[in-house]
Amino acid sequence: MGDLLQQASLASEFPSLAQRVNGEPLAYLDNAATTHMPQAVLDAMREFETTSRANIHRGVHTLSQRATDAFERARGDLKRFVGAGPGHELVFTSGTTDALNLVANGLSDAGAGRPYLQPGDEIIVSGLEHHANLVPWQQAARRTGATVRILRPDAQGRLHADDLAPLLTPRTMVFAVTAGANATGERPPYEELLALAAEAGALTVLDAAQAMSHDTPQLLALACDFMAFSGHKMYGPMGTGVLAGRRKALERLTPLRFGGDMVIWVSEQEASFAELPARLEGGTPNVAGAVGLAAAAAFIEATGRGAIDAHVRSLRAHAVAGLSALDGVTVLAPHAEAAALVSFVAAGAHPHDIGTLLDERGIAVRTGHHCAQPLLDHLGLGPTTRASFALYNTHDEVERLVAAVARALEVLR
Ligand code: PLP
Repeated sequence: MGDLLQQASLASEFPSLAQRVNGEPLAYLDNAATTHMPQAVLDAMREFETTSRANIHRGVHTLSQRATDAFERARGDLKRFVGAGPGHELVFTSGTTDALNLVANGLSDAGAGRPYLQPGDEIIVSGLEHHANLVPWQQAARRTGATVRILRPDAQGRLHADDLAPLLTPRTMVFAVTAGANATGERPPYEELLALAAEAGALTVLDAAQAMSHDTPQLLALACDFMAFSGHKMYGPMGTGVLAGRRKALERLTPLRFGGDMVIWVSEQEASFAELPARLEGGTPNVAGAVGLAAAAAFIEATGRGAIDAHVRSLRAHAVAGLSALDGVTVLAPHAEAAALVSFVAAGAHPHDIGTLLDERGIAVRTGHHCAQPLLDHLGLGPTTRASFALYNTHDEVERLVAAVARALEVLR
């Protein structure tokens, strides 16, 4: 790309990509599931583990202080990355799923008194969601007697603000939406949707898992109370993630994990709890992971968010054009230009078989329901094949993908 494509050197910064799979150079096109890590992230974690490894917050010794500094520096760096202001806070989690469970549980748990959600309340969830932003709300509704209502997409998988307005009632307490649908690539007008829901008095939740690596939502620009994302989808380590949001909203959450590091004092029968962010970070966190996640954010910034976004969009456009031209192939949400992924179905060929034949040619894609069964049901579809792009992918790899899908279809039909 004028661009990231002339960055054979950029791809070479990802050691795990320099391998052959089934005798072919690896074309890793499963980035919506998990991206690979650049050397800078691996180095940051190694540096932490070899110079500063110790438990945080409760040691007076030098290594403990170094570890605490590294952890809190990572928090500060990530706050800047997501455009947090003075009224925001950032809590480390093990991923998006963990962060969304923390919110849904925290608003419905009666452990610390009257929960935010009450019988008869309504939780609106978009119909584009990954199961991680639906099932926790189903559970919260079950616990409290609230109801889950769905903001359904149209037949092409688009969400419309006009459809949200009639769903909002004085009982709407939560609105949850994705910044990018992992099964179709749809990029909903979440800015407008969050603003509408907030205006109606609901707490707003943004699942930014698919957006962080190329279209990073900025908290200060959004009517967003809670935003969740995962490190491993943005060139960072697995088992890391974030729940960021408005401090006042985060303060409403009953902690999910009680124990060390989140209390002020403890007696035999009672305890009082620390302020944010410690309040929601009970137990020893993944400190090296937090350091690696901040290094991943720095890597994205250094590469350029705009350049990454333009690159993945152009790879996606290339793939959509190539795949749509194949006989019997239907691309989902072909209009979703802002996506970093392409999801498709092919008449007469099961995605699992397509994926297996692509793997024989060294091409890694994902097949199945992508943890978004209600959306695929709504669109009248079953499993799909999904190729998803990252900054290190190339247009040559897209050509290989299209040619390999064409060959797979010949074999399977
Ligand atoms: N939300 C979206 C949109 C996703 O794509 C994913 C993972 O694919 C998740 C949530 C869950 O992320 P994690 O498994 O890292 O918790």
